[in-house]
Amino acid sequence: MGLFTRRKTVFVDADILIIGGGMSGCGATYESRYWGRDLKIVCVEKANIERSGAVAQGLYAINCYMGMQWNENKPEDHVRYARNDLMGLVREDLGYDIARHVDSTVHKFEEWGLPIMRDPQTGRYQREGKWQIMIHGESYKPIVAEAARKAASEVYNRIMVTHLLMDKTRPNRVAGAIGFNVRNGNFYVFRTKAVIVAAGGASHIFKPRSVGEGMGRTWYAPWSSASAYALPILAGAKMTQMENRIVLTRFKDGYGPVGAYFLHLKTYTQNAYGQDYEPTWFESLKSLVGDYVNRHPVPTCLRNHALLEEVKAGRGPIRMVTKEAFKDPHNETVGWENFLGMTIGQAVVWASQNIDPKEVNPELTTSEPYVMGSHATCSGAWASGPEDCAPAEYQWGYNRMLTVEGLFGAGDTIGGSAHKFSSGSFTEGRIAGKAAVKYVKDMGQQQPQVSEAEYEDLKKIVYKPLDNYEVGRNEIVAGTVSPSYILPLHGLQRLEKIMDEYVGGIGAHYTTNEPLLMRGLDLLRMLREDCAHIGAPDLHQLQRAWELQHRVLASECVTQHTLFRKETRWPGYYYRADHPKLDDKDWHCFTLSRYDRESGAWQMEKVPVHHIVD
Ligand SMILES: Cc1cc2nc3c(=O)[nH]c(=O)nc-3n(C[C@H](O)[C@H](O)[C@H](O)COP(=O)(O)OP(=O)(O)OC[C@H]3O[C@@H](n4cnc5c(N)ncnc54)[C@H](O)[C@@H]3O)c2cc1C
Repeated sequence: MGLFTRRKTVFVDADILIIGGGMSGCGATYESRYWGRDLKIVCVEKANIERSGAVAQGLYAINCYMGMQWNENKPEDHVRYARNDLMGLVREDLGYDIARHVDSTVHKFEEWGLPIMRDPQTGRYQREGKWQIMIHGESYKPIVAEAARKAASEVYNRIMVTHLLMDKTRPNRVAGAIGFNVRNGNFYVFRTKAVIVAAGGASHIFKPRSVGEGMGRTWYAPWSSASAYALPILAGAKMTQMENRIVLTRFKDGYGPVGAYFLHLKTYTQNAYGQDYEPTWFESLKSLVGDYVNRHPVPTCLRNHALLEEVKAGRGPIRMVTKEAFKDPHNETVGWENFLGMTIGQAVVWASQNIDPKEVNPELTTSEPYVMGSHATCSGAWASGPEDCAPAEYQWGYNRMLTVEGLFGAGDTIGGSAHKFSSGSFTEGRIAGKAAVKYVKDMGQQQPQVSEAEYEDLKKIVYKPLDNYEVGRNEIVAGTVSPSYILPLHGLQRLEKIMDEYVGGIGAHYTTNEPLLMRGLDLLRMLREDCAHIGAPDLHQLQRAWELQHRVLASECVTQHTLFRKETRWPGYYYRADHPKLDDKDWHCFTLSRYDRESGAWQMEKVPVHHIVD
């Protein structure tokens, strides 16, 4: 009892609250200060912004850079590229908005000290591919965080945000957020005029390939716990494309990146018998998706498809042919540096498994699915678009404002706009920050009011897992299985199993159908009921308890969307076995959901895809 009875409630008042200090949160913090010199800008982060988020370990490439200063690409080209990769369905207004501003973001990174490689012949940034430039990026995140720290009025590290607060005078307006300090247990009430959710994507909702003591080894960051989705969902915001999970082809066991290998080192893949297997699957894939198979570049999901089918046909493992490229010592250096700059674990895995890519062609595998809005995927919240180019149907307020007033998003939070990556996420944060400042300045005297009753009720709910454990622990003398509580890890493993078996994870060859999804929803509802009985022995586990609850709600949303879209739009990411083909006639549209927290019901709708680029 002792520790937790000393828990304080800390009140923080702000004009703009940014939840999550990763790439987009740092962008939002930086830009909010630029436009809102006199405003109080607060950034709250569950880890420490110095090394938090998906870029924590660093990166070796910035994957979204137009190169407009050298006429390399135009924003319209990027929209076409992303649209093709997502099989026709992207919010072109949002993508265009990022593409036209992203170069200035990258130039800022360089000014702040990020070493960007240059082509010795041309003096331009060294390209890895058409959109990617190469960086020495081990310290990418600390460099970006420094800019945010200097811009923020206050940064609160180690605060896990659990819920948003709504305005007591206007039900669809945000008024703040609550959370707890994961080190000392203090309760935080943030009262604010606008909120920008920048809390990253969702890993560990599907069962990962690495289990047991290796379960932290996933491709997407294990601490990406779906808060970016659960927070807006609970506040009643509409979500889009949540069915569009991503599956990555990566080096086996370490999930090391393959982009530099394919694009820069010109490596290629083959099956266990040294054959080029992709042509084998061309005709069957064409019968599923039609002309998309002829597009250049071939959409990411379709490239997964050939690999998956070849393995199912018993001709795995699939290997990347590195032996040829690694004969060149320069390529060998680039190959290893690529891991050392962003995924050191892959180098360690290869060392431990006697894999020298000069001598052995390493195995590839496909990851478990992840849900996110910034990579080659576009799940997330439905946002209002830019005033000058968003079609009327996509515009109801300030740029990047969700369907809840005063609630903005950026990066993985925002749906429909894929291929932002690190630079695009930071840029989208900047766009959201600028819009949030305008919203706050336009607000005048009509400021939102938090309800004391609401945050006091939530406070009891937030700490309940500690009480559950303290009481329930007396019922057992040893072990971790109790009749009256489940531990966060138990809940997580149950969630991952449900999603894996019913919603199209690795164990089901990424395949599902309506009966499976319906049963999955039943099981998820039961899991949600049991979440009221999570037991947390300490503050660390209390954080795990809330991460689990965010993951469960986001998973339900994913399952509802997967059920609603009656086609297989992205073979290679997932398959609806009962609707195996792409169906442009009925499903060339966005799927939208809205959760009603009073009734627990999900409302689904279709919204047309408007094209603004030819
Ligand atoms: C393995 C990997 C490789 C990648 N490779 C590249 C690449 O080569 N090039 C490239 O440009 N991009 C790459 N990306 C993509 C890039 O990292 C992401 O697009 C970008 O980080 C997304 O930004 P974000 O702000 O949405 O999320 P993040 O940067 O992940 O930030 C989210 C932040 O929110 C915090 N948070 C989460 N929940 C809460 C909560 N409840 N309360 C408080 N704080 C919370 C997190 O701790 C985190 O700091 C890669 C990503 C991964 C995982």
